[in-house]
Amino acid sequence: MMKLSEEYKQTHGLTPDKVAETMIGFYERVDAACSNLLQALTNQGHPLNCKAGCSQCCIDDLSITKAELAVIEKLFPNYRNLLPHRPGACPFLDEQGLCRIYAARPYICRTHGLPMRRLDDDEQTETRDICFVNAHIDVLSLPATLCWTSQTAEIQLSIINIATFGDADRIPMRNFW
Ligand code: SF4
Ligand code: SF4
Repeated sequence: MMKLSEEYKQTHGLTPDKVAETMIGFYERVDAACSNLLQALTNQGHPLNCKAGCSQCCIDDLSITKAELAVIEKLFPNYRNLLPHRPGACPFLDEQGLCRIYAARPYICRTHGLPMRRLDDDEQTETRDICFVNAHIDVLSLPATLCWTSQTAEIQLSIINIATFGDADRIPMRNFW
């Protein structure tokens, strides 16, 4: 697979550092919003069971965008030297159930465990979901303010990718090796 730094040169002439910097700012905003939501859930009697080593959300078929890969390349430039986790879990998971690229983990991993709320395109219907390990929370009865409504952040992620690469295509993480 071509390194992103080569792709930058061949397309938009943007530096990998600039895209990674933009994405790190995006991640900081996502992390702050997730942290606030987690605190609100705890305060209102809905604590999550998420903890280090709990990794059933780290499944094998997750894919990410090129801008997310840019952050991995910046913070873990030798990530290809890692031995990928055997098939059945995310290739970045270690044997203790910890993420080996935690500081650069992609967007979806930062929202793992939160009650998810997704609106359809005309915002008339919504679907909700939550990790089965957090199934003690009745996600359908939660107020919308206690759910992660995914569209806003995902649109921002798409905009960053399209502005940089001309697309928001996704790459399976296992394809990195
Ligand atoms: S990148 Fe890290 S947090 Fe995300 S699924 Fe893989 S191991 Fe889990
Ligand atoms: S999302 Fe589920 S599997 Fe992942 S850390 Fe939280 S409780 Fe564990």
